[in-house]
Amino acid sequence: MGKKVLIIDDDKTLLDIAARYLKKAGFETLALEDSSMAMKKIESFNPDVVVVDLMMPKIDGLHLLKSIKEAKGFGKIKTIAVSAKSFEFDKNRAYEMGAQFFLKKPLDYESLVAAIDRVIKDEMKIVFWGTRGTLAKPGPETLKFGGNTSCVSVELTQDRLFIFDGGTGITELGKKMMASRKRYKMNFFITHPHWDHINGFPFFMPLYQQGNEMVVYGSSHGNVSLREVISGQMESIYFPVTLRAFGSRVYFKEIFEGDYEIEGLSLKTLMLNHPGITLGYRLANASGKSMAYITDNELAPEEVDKDGSHARKKLVNFLDGVDVLIHDSSYFDEEYKKRVGWGHPPLTEVLKLAAEAKVKNVYLTHHDPDHDDARVEEKEAAARRFFEERGLDIQCYSAIEGSAVIL
Ligand SMILES: [Zn+2]
Ligand SMILES: [Zn+2]
Repeated sequence: MGKKVLIIDDDKTLLDIAARYLKKAGFETLALEDSSMAMKKIESFNPDVVVVDLMMPKIDGLHLLKSIKEAKGFGKIKTIAVSAKSFEFDKNRAYEMGAQFFLKKPLDYESLVAAIDRVIKDEMKIVFWGTRGTLAKPGPETLKFGGNTSCVSVELTQDRLFIFDGGTGITELGKKMMASRKRYKMNFFITHPHWDHINGFPFFMPLYQQGNEMVVYGSSHGNVSLREVISGQMESIYFPVTLRAFGSRVYFKEIFEGDYEIEGLSLKTLMLNHPGITLGYRLANASGKSMAYITDNELAPEEVDKDGSHARKKLVNFLDGVDVLIHDSSYFDEEYKKRVGWGHPPLTEVLKLAAEAKVKNVYLTHHDPDHDDARVEEKEAAARRFFEERGLDIQCYSAIEGSAVIL
């Protein structure tokens, strides 16, 4: 049996055509003209996907989306908003109310089928743009895993791009985006403003493109606002252009440790063990697929951290069962002994954490500048041995710049 689709629209002609088209595409389809009946029909029909027109008499689409999102037992239902208005504002509102996708009227039925497939799959595509820590290391010794500093992007079912950190890797992401000629709405999350996490930011070309929009998330630092944290490195002594040169709209939102909902996605943050204020992130979509981005983070072994100040338990709970953990793996255990208190972990502690939190996949990142490809391969091999010896079904990789993971 095909997946079940409920389509709700007050336009009878559109409904008839759409219903016929969806049936032909293999979906078990129910068409509904009267939105006031929607919640009852959802209960009896139990659809996988509900397609909702936003402008309807009786109960409007946004209201209906919200009711579906908040109703108990409807958690697995995916929703698509359809509207003749396609302003970013309307799209934002639809996402906030729980829609996973937005389609513009007049409806192109092929796009509707593609959108339904997309929300059913609800993929999360994670791409590594920079895997080095501290300092960019281009050259023949880093060809395999890449030489750029921290940056990871996440593409979601929603037409939004989430970006974590703006090390030098972000410039390559920017080039790909510019080549696509699309306009982007981006959410950019900073772990902390050490250079290797922000200094690609002024070179991120989509910021100079009109029509793009970015919300920058991160914490303030004492009495220095998030905006000042970013604009500081663009002061004239350090950089020739200021924030004012950006053609795109850029907003700043200060966040701290807590639970947030951003465009229908769940985002949790946690303070990490690193000099200054550093946030770790965990992002989950409506299907429960999840990734965590944890760098820079010192995980001291018990014999070093006798009072347990690195708050391991809290971190284990935060990461519990996550599909993909991307973690700082700056040092081998031997190296760590000379670098206690520098804010980065020895490899074994990262692996122990992954095992305790029962994560499914671990991606090692943020390598020490002295580690060439061979050393990074060694870490990967040691990690795999660690999990194998303990009979744990945890996959481990050293993240490769330019590579993608699809959940
Ligand atoms: Zn760093
Ligand atoms: Zn740092």
